[in-house]
Amino acid sequence: MADGRKLTRQVKAGSLSIGGAAPVSVQSMCNTDTRDASATIRQIAALEDSGCQLVRLAVPDMEAALSLERIVKSSHVPLCADIHFDHRLALTAMEAGVSKVRINPGNIGSDAKVNEVVKAAALKGIPIRIGVNSGSLQPALVAKYGRTARALAESALAELLVFERLGFYDTVLSVKSTDVSETVEANRIISGKVGYPIHLGLTEAGPPDTGVIRSSAAIGALLLEGIGDTIRISLTADPVLEVKAGRELLKGLGLMKGLKIVSCPTCGRTRGDVTGLVEKVREGLRNADPNVTVAIMGCEVNGPGEAADADFGLACGQGAAIIFRKGAVVGRVPYEEAAKALLEMILLVAPGADDR
Ligand code: SF4
Repeated sequence: MADGRKLTRQVKAGSLSIGGAAPVSVQSMCNTDTRDASATIRQIAALEDSGCQLVRLAVPDMEAALSLERIVKSSHVPLCADIHFDHRLALTAMEAGVSKVRINPGNIGSDAKVNEVVKAAALKGIPIRIGVNSGSLQPALVAKYGRTARALAESALAELLVFERLGFYDTVLSVKSTDVSETVEANRIISGKVGYPIHLGLTEAGPPDTGVIRSSAAIGALLLEGIGDTIRISLTADPVLEVKAGRELLKGLGLMKGLKIVSCPTCGRTRGDVTGLVEKVREGLRNADPNVTVAIMGCEVNGPGEAADADFGLACGQGAAIIFRKGAVVGRVPYEEAAKALLEMILLVAPGADDR
């Protein structure tokens, strides 16, 4: 799958490579007031701890732009400044040391202003994301194509042309809609036409329970087609949840290493507390996040088969749990000791557990 990714031009946002052969990265956005540097710095640290590789910050006014210098100095993860309407905010953000800027050239105003931003970015080696959402389409394109995927894609491509005429190519593109099919289609169109790295996401995806599903449907479909270089799952929630969801999606698609738990849904044959075992094992491996598949199965009907396919496995048997390693039974332990025994075995070889 990873080999099937469309090879795009690579850009560098600080230490993070986006596009080309770089792994698909996970990003998020602070929901703090950027003018409150301390709160923003704390949230960036939490996002970084959860595995976020790039953090975007809203820069709505000059006070927020001026706050960036302190925030940049305290952050270990590359930061992207999100700018609308006022190109001077982009210039100040770049002066402050952000690693990337997101603008929608259509709302920046004159070509001269866009030119100023592009020139400054080129001088500093900062990539710019052109982010077009269904809510910010060019009116002429809406008149021509309606509110469609085509209008989204053409809007981004028209803005890209402005950058190319200025000789700027370190661009990341994003076309996002609130609609899954429209987002997939718009990204297919831009991916088919240009070779710039693509940032995937669904805009205003909603609260976690539905937002994760809708975002994963859109982002997952595109990644499976080899389209996409960096992702954001936008949720009406703590942004740390966005990062966790993004990482799980990439792991599920085989695009990121890390722990994969396979567990059965439980049924009338279930002999042990599968839910409790899963939670204990997941919690016990949260920090190590070894690159292994662990199966936790509720009975001896399907359990051993699934557990045997995993790197480590546990199947609930009559009065005891059976523990597997690479398909071989390595022990039977009482239920009260099952999670501990399994964790000890995994952690003994983690992080070297990655022996696949
Ligand atoms: S593995 Fe066993 S307990 Fe779990 S769902 Fe399948 S049959 Fe039921």
